Amino acid sequence: MYGIIATWRMALEGISEAETMLEHDASAADALETAIRAVEDFEYYKSVGYGGLPNEDEEVELDAAFMDGDTLSIGAVGAIKDFANPVSVARCLSKEPVNNFLVGAGAEKYAHKHGFERKNMLTDRARTHYHNRLVEENQKASQDRELKPYAGHDTVGMVALDQQGSMAAATSTSGLFMKKAGRLGDSPVIGSGLYVDSEVGGASATGLGEDLMKGCISYEIVRRMKEGMTPQEACESAVAELDEKLKKKRSKAGDLSLIAMNNKGEWGCATNIKGFSFAVATENLKPTVYLVQFDENGKQYFEEASEEWMDNYMKTRTAPLIWK
Ligand code: ASP
Repeated sequence: MYGIIATWRMALEGISEAETMLEHDASAADALETAIRAVEDFEYYKSVGYGGLPNEDEEVELDAAFMDGDTLSIGAVGAIKDFANPVSVARCLSKEPVNNFLVGAGAEKYAHKHGFERKNMLTDRARTHYHNRLVEENQKASQDRELKPYAGHDTVGMVALDQQGSMAAATSTSGLFMKKAGRLGDSPVIGSGLYVDSEVGGASATGLGEDLMKGCISYEIVRRMKEGMTPQEACESAVAELDEKLKKKRSKAGDLSLIAMNNKGEWGCATNIKGFSFAVATENLKPTVYLVQFDENGKQYFEEASEEWMDNYMKTRTAPLIWK
């Protein structure tokens, strides 16, 4: 059995490529890196890699992580600037004996030394988003003016299983739009943004990093799978519990969306928001995008994305942007 699951529709092209690789016996780690790089390279996805939205100072700071489920090796970069594929830097770091998690200038120095491609990651389109956002803020009455992190943030997080039974997980993101310089979310943090153990399975998160980290949620899901839960049971119970706890203790919960796969290729997903999508492919399932919907009792279910939804998705991503 082999398989790969990822947060958001944006992962579809990447996981399709990865699925073909897995079918031809590639390792989970290679397939996963290929899939995430495809998302990082696509300039119209404004929350990952090239074209990602900048921080408050108009600089694109990227976070990424990689974990090998066979060895539990970890590698991560935080707030790295001007490198094309943070996930590859993270994977390279996972092969180091120590110094596996580097941030800022240290991460850039490492990437430079190891010959990774340098690239200005701020696109004209992302600059337009930034400019328009400032204009919108300036139009507000001065008492309402507040440059807070904007909600349109999405991380690509993936878990893959290969035919040898090896697993890997990885994430990549530009984090919150208008974040403070140096801010790290959950995505590069092992246990929160991702976790994988080939003896059990893996999980990965997207949503509000500050809240996802409060539950070490990816590790928590793997722990539940180890105790015998299916990926679906583990995701649903962990997300519901963290959501409830945050509401009880802090009166509100940020966005929490999780995907998981176990070492049998079974998969699951849970979210506390409307409009979450994910992409999955296994030996028995062609690459498919599902939308998470809720019935009248609030119970979530998955619906395959329609052709119309898919067309509309790409149209809105690539629609011309006007400089206000
Ligand atoms: N979790 C990411 C962060 O907090 C953002 C996202 O997944 O939407 O940086």
